[in-house]
Amino acid sequence: MSTTIAENKIIRYRGTELNTKGWQQEAVLRMLMNNLDKEVAEIPEELVVYGGIGKAARNWESFDAIVESLKNLEDDETLLVQSGKPVVIFKTHTDAPRVLLANSNIVPAYANWDTFHELDKKGLMMYGQMTAGSWIYIGSQGIVQGTYETFAELAKQHFNGTLQGTITVTAGLGGMGGAQPLSVTMNGGVCIAIDVEEWRIDRRIETRYTDVKTDSLDEAIRLANEAKAEGKALSIGLVGNAAEILPEMIKRNFIPDALTDQTSAHDPLNGYVPTGLSIEEANKLRASDPEEYVKRSKASMAVHVKAMLEMMEKGAITFDYGNNIRQVAKDEGVENAFDFPGFVPAYIRPQFCEGKGPFRWVALSGDPEDIYKTDEAILREFSDNEHLCNWIRMAQEKIEFQGLPSRICWLGYGERARFGKILNDMVASGELKAPIVIGRDHLDSGSVASPNRETEAMKDGSDVVADWPILNAMVNAVGGATWVSVHHGGGVGMGYSLHAGVVIVADGTKEAEARLQRVLTTDPGMGVVRHVDAGYDIAINKARETGMKIPMLDK
Ligand code: NAD
Repeated sequence: MSTTIAENKIIRYRGTELNTKGWQQEAVLRMLMNNLDKEVAEIPEELVVYGGIGKAARNWESFDAIVESLKNLEDDETLLVQSGKPVVIFKTHTDAPRVLLANSNIVPAYANWDTFHELDKKGLMMYGQMTAGSWIYIGSQGIVQGTYETFAELAKQHFNGTLQGTITVTAGLGGMGGAQPLSVTMNGGVCIAIDVEEWRIDRRIETRYTDVKTDSLDEAIRLANEAKAEGKALSIGLVGNAAEILPEMIKRNFIPDALTDQTSAHDPLNGYVPTGLSIEEANKLRASDPEEYVKRSKASMAVHVKAMLEMMEKGAITFDYGNNIRQVAKDEGVENAFDFPGFVPAYIRPQFCEGKGPFRWVALSGDPEDIYKTDEAILREFSDNEHLCNWIRMAQEKIEFQGLPSRICWLGYGERARFGKILNDMVASGELKAPIVIGRDHLDSGSVASPNRETEAMKDGSDVVADWPILNAMVNAVGGATWVSVHHGGGVGMGYSLHAGVVIVADGTKEAEARLQRVLTTDPGMGVVRHVDAGYDIAINKARETGMKIPMLDK
């Protein structure tokens, strides 16, 4: 599909005129288009949104049929989407979700990349990643607070609360990984971010996520050391292969203060580039001999992880950033690959215990003023939460909108329902020009089972228990979310995760108010309950304080 044809199909709907039969359907249509907007998606002409081959629709025929279905969908109908293909429209009722999606789910004994690729080739499946196939991706801005919070917590635990005067090395400047350099500089630090594809670095520079670019390792080290000495924040995009650059850094005795990685290692065929090949050679090999490609890719990841382990031994604070690279290295014989922790147990879990996670909202009007007004509402209504207010001020200043104007902030149980009502009231009063879409990443507190990531090292050993995301999806659908999704393999690849998504529209009606109250309570509530069940005190206290009805809490 050529770029022009894709551009003709992907339409930027804005303003208050409906292209569908109601705001709920309109919200789905606009968010599907937004997922594939060229400002938002990584490779829209291939329907690829982010995260390796995370797609929004199975193919262009399916995309067209989804759009057509949404345009004709009644207020009491529900469209079902199976791995990016619309399969049926049922009459349901007005409070039911308008769309239900299931993406990339494979029977557990067969749940691996080989089966997936076979099905994908036959046109029977697509990879939905997390927010790609569930139409609530908003570009790098969607992850930036999570990444910021991770580095802030790392700074708190290891560097007296700031990254000033420290150097972080990472790799992967794709859709999500691109948030890393900005998050490091927002914490005052210096970042060298390696990417094998130069255009990815250019894109992050255009959107102000990265400051400068070089293809020379020595130049990158020099710039980083200078900025570190001056206590200046600086991010440097370094063109190169991480599995080659890290060993070179060790040879030069350059050991960063902090170290991680966000290449798309979860997908050895489409997400990670092996060493010793140019991009053109890699693309050719991927097409001509996928088995050989995967072999080389996995071997390179082993080298990459070994270098990370060596840097850790030499003093770098090292963590896995949610791409399953440790698992691949371990399978390749790096026995101690899991010696460095994942980011959730290391830095994020206490927030999950309170039902907090990457909550987000999008202005369907397309007018940035709508988002600025919601920012003001946060600053006014949550003025006692200094951390949150600082975040909103910093986001206003530093984060470029991509596609439809949107905002991300980590709200928890209680806060989300409260803010949902505020947003709905603002739509009802006409303060905002059009309805607001409210959603979150699947990487949230109660919506994912992923033993090498969100549920790594759970207190009670329940890392692989996958009932929670299913319960999450069911209760959110019952409560009247606008669209709900259940996916497999997001973040860490096939066989390693099950997760659910939820999106709900605040259109200013009383009916929406009731739905928002229900869904924005059950959804983060599942996060609290999941952690109560695993025995975390923060979650148990939260449940007690808020009077949650948990049958076996005191037993
Ligand atoms: P992406 O596919 O958009 O980008 C991956 C990037 O890695 C590309 O720019 C690619 O050029 C680069 N790359 C591949 N091999 C490389 C190598 N050997 N050396 C240097 N660069 C290389 O993916 P994304 O959306 O940015 O996600 C990245 C990874 O992070 C995925 O595995 C994803 O599942 C995971 N992820 C983590 C979080 C989190 O918060 N921890 C959130 C979302 C995604």
